[in-house]
Amino acid sequence: MGRSYPYDVRVLANVRPDAYWMDTMLHEFGHAVYDKYINPSLPYLLRTVAHTNTTEAIARMMGSLAEEPAWLSSVAGVPRENLAADLEKLAERGRADRLVFTRWALIMYRFEKALYEDPDRADLGVLWWDLVERLQLQERPPGRDEPDWAAKVHLSVAPVYYHNYVPGHLFAAQLRSYLEARVTGGPFFADEMAGLYLQEAVFGPGARNPWGETVLGATGERLDPEHFITSLRR
Ligand SMILES: [Zn+2]
Repeated sequence: MGRSYPYDVRVLANVRPDAYWMDTMLHEFGHAVYDKYINPSLPYLLRTVAHTNTTEAIARMMGSLAEEPAWLSSVAGVPRENLAADLEKLAERGRADRLVFTRWALIMYRFEKALYEDPDRADLGVLWWDLVERLQLQERPPGRDEPDWAAKVHLSVAPVYYHNYVPGHLFAAQLRSYLEARVTGGPFFADEMAGLYLQEAVFGPGARNPWGETVLGATGERLDPEHFITSLRR
């Protein structure tokens, strides 16, 4: 709420006690912690995130812990023996989720591009399902002619936003890999140095630099999809 210090950071959530909402809560708290630690001595206009994709990266890095066995046992308190049988399943689900999401984001990107090029076109419903069939390999229900695209909440409340998740996911993988290799030497969520580093390198600078500089400053290299690809191989 506002940008005056001390910051008033709030998360509004309607949660259920399951893995899906655990991911969402961690995701939203990721955004929240970024906002909370932006350096308040920055000028008003820079007292915000570097870019939508950098705050989505932090949110993603936190949210994905909900399906990480080490986090589930050490932080959420799930007994290790309960996790053992599900380890491979969890890892596979995480990989599938990252891949499926990329295709889903492409649908949103292409649909929005076409929508804003010609908002009055009469075949938006057809276009939507064409993209879903081509990119997500899901067949349209026979005879369907409804504005199904309008059910995606981002199209009405956060237009031209969705594509930011993709570089966000790339940065999340890159940042985590840097943190664990150079800062914590182990799972980032188990070491408070990670929090201090994130405050210093990502949250604190706010919008002082373009997002590409934030990535470079925090990880020592420009955004590189290689880290995301490596995360799919684990
Ligand atoms: Zn988010």
